[in-house]
Amino acid sequence: MLYYSLNHNAPRVSFAEAAISGQAPDKGLYFPRSIPELPNGFIENLKNYSKEEIGYTVMKPFIGEAIPDEILHTIIAETVNFNFPLIRINQQIASLELFHGPTLAFKDVGARFMSRCLSYLNRNNKKEITVLVATSGDTGGAVANGFLGVEGVNVIILYPSGKVSPIQELQLTTLGKNITALEINGTFDDCQSIVKQAFTDQDIAQKVHLTSANSINVARWLPQQLYYFYAYQQWQEKEAPVISVPSGNFGNICAGVVAFKSGLPVKQFIAACNANNIVPNYFETGVYQPGQAIATISNAMDVGNPSNFIRIRELFNQQFSELKNKMCSVSVNDVITKQTIRDVYQQHNYILDPHGAVAYNALENYLKEHPSDKGFILETAHPVKFPDTVENVIRKKIPVPGAVEYLFNKTKQSILMPASFTSFKEWIITGKF
Ligand SMILES: *Cc1c(COP(=O)(O)O)cnc(C)c1O
Repeated sequence: MLYYSLNHNAPRVSFAEAAISGQAPDKGLYFPRSIPELPNGFIENLKNYSKEEIGYTVMKPFIGEAIPDEILHTIIAETVNFNFPLIRINQQIASLELFHGPTLAFKDVGARFMSRCLSYLNRNNKKEITVLVATSGDTGGAVANGFLGVEGVNVIILYPSGKVSPIQELQLTTLGKNITALEINGTFDDCQSIVKQAFTDQDIAQKVHLTSANSINVARWLPQQLYYFYAYQQWQEKEAPVISVPSGNFGNICAGVVAFKSGLPVKQFIAACNANNIVPNYFETGVYQPGQAIATISNAMDVGNPSNFIRIRELFNQQFSELKNKMCSVSVNDVITKQTIRDVYQQHNYILDPHGAVAYNALENYLKEHPSDKGFILETAHPVKFPDTVENVIRKKIPVPGAVEYLFNKTKQSILMPASFTSFKEWIITGKF
């Protein structure tokens, strides 16, 4: 498979090159030259395949010859070695729980796949790769965990001091080994701006081989298709599902659209956003107007300029009408998000996290208008990651899952740093600031 730049001003490259460089030299996002069609009978027989078999069949065409089959099989097996249950909440709505991985968020899938691909692709290179990532909470943990102990790769995570939840902070700061956490005295935007500047800095480039681990990287974006297939394996209805995806940078839903375009039955996609309503506005007006991010309780979706939306437009051939046929988008505010968490807990005894609640409300409203349809939400994180909001709303303590309980016995290790690019640059080059 070859990948082209969506800015159309860079050479086509293989999966290997797209994954190593992240972004094309013309700053465009890489996009596969064609969307592969699933083999005949694959969907009809989906229930008979293992997660690993589905993973291999879906991913192989995107990887081509970049990774030998044997290694690709191992990478996939390690990527999806946890459960993806589709839990029914009521007659019309189910929840695809994507939080059974090591950091309790869907980003584990992309991060685990990407880390193992990079490790393989960089195997003959003496120079280590340094993955640089800014996080508002979830990305950092998943990336750190995905890359932990992966040879030839160092990870530096920038997070805003005091602005991530306790579990998230432990996930970022207790790993050690090849993972370094920089606790920035500032906001998430400050972290992101330091990272952006670092990628264009020539002095840093001389010293370290930097790469990014956000969802613009094809190795993180594309494996997110897999759990849409795992959901369909568990789907009991005749009619195809309506799928509601809590969206920030739109990488997750975009992967779902790739799955649909290659043959997975989907009735409708709902891109559920919080107060950051760039895409809902676009659906309403046809005008795409990026803006500043607004802070909300579903903070992993606080994005003012969703980087993957351009890929969604490309998947629908840049035709607004084609896109509107298959997808809609709504904005759900914090008050309604909390109300949804409370109602779903009281009526169905199911605890949503704030991101899943945004998706739930969007789906519920859609189904009121389409009463014969059924659907599911992507529950992108475990509610225990957002205890301040959720426990306050349901007035109950959320039990900590065994998978993260051990974190509370660990000691936080971070480097406290001012929100200044100069300090960062000094540190990454000399080790001091
Ligand atoms: C990252 C994240 C999202 C948004 O996903 P995108 O792919 O950026 O749209 C939603 N929910 C949670 C919990 C997240 O961590």
